[in-house]
Amino acid sequence: MKKIVSFFGEPSETFQKLNERAKEYAAVRNLEYVWSVQCPYNQDEVIKQLQQADAGIIDIEPYGEDIFSQIKDSTKILVRFGVGYDKVDLKAASRNGIAVARTTGANTTAVAEMALTLMLSAKRHICIDDNVVRSGRWEKDVVNELTGATVGIIGFGAIGKQLAKLLQGFDCKIVAYDPFPNTEAAKALDVELLDLETLLKESDAISIHVPFLESTKNLINRETLALMKPSSVIVNTSRGGIVNEGDLYNALKEHKIGGAGLDVFAVEPLPMDSPLRELDNILLTPHNSSQTEEALWNIYKMAIDIAADFFEKKLSAHILNPDFAEGK
Ligand code: NAD
Repeated sequence: MKKIVSFFGEPSETFQKLNERAKEYAAVRNLEYVWSVQCPYNQDEVIKQLQQADAGIIDIEPYGEDIFSQIKDSTKILVRFGVGYDKVDLKAASRNGIAVARTTGANTTAVAEMALTLMLSAKRHICIDDNVVRSGRWEKDVVNELTGATVGIIGFGAIGKQLAKLLQGFDCKIVAYDPFPNTEAAKALDVELLDLETLLKESDAISIHVPFLESTKNLINRETLALMKPSSVIVNTSRGGIVNEGDLYNALKEHKIGGAGLDVFAVEPLPMDSPLRELDNILLTPHNSSQTEEALWNIYKMAIDIAADFFEKKLSAHILNPDFAEGK
């Protein structure tokens, strides 16, 4: 029986139960499943575990030549628990003959729901109102509805499309920017595809769903923020480096935009001295968009299926480096 070791999760009852379920499911798929909690993350321990396993389920820590070269004799496939793989060096994985996959689609609903929650909360000034009441005041401001507004989606992939689906009931005008747009999906969901500049100018709420790449680093910066309407809000559940936090801080501090919601940050955990913590017109969450029981189970199941299929010689479309077998 092939062995798979999972490094995802925290030492809690919820993760204990999920991992027991994962173990049972893995056995059905003919895999021996081991959960190795990494709190705090310990690279030496991860390497040691992978040297005794055929497959691994990995979290968001960096994986490069230093790890791959030490595990290549045992581990044949690593599955990213989630979608973003910006910290995995795929070329180094291929050089060492290791396949890397991700669980695209397994957490789309959870992340899209979080984006919608942050968007609605930012529009309704929930953060400000909560602080007002807690501080003993009773002040009411006047805001705008999302219903009938224009919502801009940057990155119309799995999560962007799911957000467009959730927004159908809001009677919004939905616009999207994506350099590789799925025009059929856009048509089916009544989404107008626009260039980035027009999207930023026309939207009343914006949500980011692009991968972190050299081309998306600081995509939202002083210049692009300046294009937004003063009442518009921006939400990022994608990756921290896509929004320039210093520029966002200035735009919010000077009330050049209406508000923001961030689930992801350039440095995580968000440093205690981050000036973003001072602002009352931003919602901050700890990179937990995927943390619903439904999404977590979908990811565990998909990760196990990808590994089991791999050992049955069925190569998943979720493998990110199909050239891994060439070992160069
Ligand atoms: P996806 O691959 O299905 O979609 C990404 C889309 O972005 C694609 O349509 C692609 O064409 C587009 N894109 C690429 N470069 C772009 C650019 N320069 N400008 C605009 N669009 C561009 O991925 P997904 O499942 O929708 O996930 C999107 C991102 O969300 C992931 O890369 C990941 O970083 C992030 N994510 C975060 C969490 C969380 O917990 N906060 C969870 C899951 C995913």
